[in-house]
Amino acid sequence: MKNFKSETEKLLSILYPSRCAACGCYLSTDKKSDDFLLAPYFCSSCALSVAWSSEVVLGEHVFDGYAIPLFYEGAVKEAMIRLKFKSDVSSVPFFSSALEREIRCKFYGVKFDTFTCVPVTRSGLAERGYNQSRLIAEKVRIDAEYDFNLLRKDKNTGVQHVLSAEERKRNIESAYTLSPGRDVRGKTILLIDDIFTTGSTCDACARTLRLSGASSVYVACAAKRRWIDENLIFD
Ligand SMILES: [Zn+2]
Repeated sequence: MKNFKSETEKLLSILYPSRCAACGCYLSTDKKSDDFLLAPYFCSSCALSVAWSSEVVLGEHVFDGYAIPLFYEGAVKEAMIRLKFKSDVSSVPFFSSALEREIRCKFYGVKFDTFTCVPVTRSGLAERGYNQSRLIAEKVRIDAEYDFNLLRKDKNTGVQHVLSAEERKRNIESAYTLSPGRDVRGKTILLIDDIFTTGSTCDACARTLRLSGASSVYVACAAKRRWIDENLIFD
């Protein structure tokens, strides 16, 4: 049975060879990165621009802690753009595994009750066909109760990344509500999002959860802009 499975996998990999999550090229042996964490997802050329982040998040925030493994640049940015705007979900396993490692490292000893993701509006979901933060969250293995519909977003906040930090905060403050029938009183919540820019989305979700009685809210985002880029014009 084991041999049969490996033969099937071999055949599938010939029929559907995996592609680089950033440039889309086929990952043949000669194009695979030597970096074992990146090799399954990126070609050797794109892997060179993947930057792991240990940068701190500045400013005052509502959440109790954060885990953000990557910088939003190079191949990570390309992969995220393909995920958000080109219906290419091939980077999801990479972002999920990067987040899972970071969560285990940064939140060691924290016992989460509920694991959720930042929601999108109904129209946003209809337009894209999926919520990329949920796709990423669904593949993260955490010892907690999964509830990806814990929060809902009813107000369309438009394109956030063209706004200044202050405008973004005002625009998003009342966008998220707790879904009917949910009770988060006294609970420790872990919230997943895709990109951390100023933290206003995570703050708005965390504020809703805290006002609903959650005792702690931690956030985990796949990638962040470098501090220096956050303070320049967004591209
Ligand atoms: Zn590539």
